[in-house]
Amino acid sequence: MRSRQQAFIGKEKQEILEKSTIAVVGLGGTGHAAAEYLARAGIKLILVDNDVVERCNLGRQAYGIDDIGRLKVVVMKERLSPFVNVETHAEMLSSYNIDKFLQKAGIILDGTDNFEARFVVNDYCIKKKKPFTYAAAIRAESSFMFWLPGRPCLRCVFSGKAANDSCEKDGILSPVAAFVGTLSAIEAIKYLVGEKPLEGLASFDFFGNKFETVKTRKDGKCMCNGQEEI
Ligand SMILES: [Zn+2]
Repeated sequence: MRSRQQAFIGKEKQEILEKSTIAVVGLGGTGHAAAEYLARAGIKLILVDNDVVERCNLGRQAYGIDDIGRLKVVVMKERLSPFVNVETHAEMLSSYNIDKFLQKAGIILDGTDNFEARFVVNDYCIKKKKPFTYAAAIRAESSFMFWLPGRPCLRCVFSGKAANDSCEKDGILSPVAAFVGTLSAIEAIKYLVGEKPLEGLASFDFFGNKFETVKTRKDGKCMCNGQEEI
C-alpha cells in the first residue's frame, strides 16, 4: 500500500512511521487533512474533536453530505481505520483531560481554530517535551510553526497579540486550510524519519504570492525557557 513512500524513505523509516502515534486536535479544515495523510502514510492516530459535521464545513472539509450531523471523530475513524489504528475522543480538550487523551502521542498536531486550545497544547507539550505544531488559515493566508524543546513556543510568539479574526467573519478560500493541514503532516513525518522540521514562523499569502519564514525569538520570562535543544 505504501510502496511509493517506502521507495523514497526506505523500509526502516517506513517501519518507524508505522510504530508512531500522532494526535490531531480538531478535525476541521486543517486537522482533517493532516489526519487523512498521516493515516495513509501509516501513522497511528489519536483524534480529538467534539464537533459534528455541518453543512457549512463541506466547502473545505472532505466530509460527505451523509455525514452532516455525525461526530467528526466517528466519520474519520470509519474512513481511516482500514489504514491504521485510530483512537478517538469526542470531547473538548482541556488541561484536565489532555494527559489522559494524548499521553501515547509522540507529536501533537494543531487542527484547532483558537488560541485557548493551542495554549493548552503548548503548555502540556512544553512540560512533557513533546513536539507540537501551530497551524492556522484564514482568507487566502496560512501560517505554521513546529515546536521542539529549545525552540520559542506559542506564548513567546503570540502572547498578547493573538488575532481575533475568524473564518466565520473574514472567510477563507476553500483549499487553504487543507494546505496547512497537509504541511503539518509532512513536517511531522519529516521529524519522525530524522529530518529537520521547518524553523521559525512560516507564512503563506496566496493572493499576495508571498511565502516566507520569519525567525522567532524566545521571551526571556516564558515557561519554555531552560529546555535543552534537541
Ligand atoms: Zn515560550
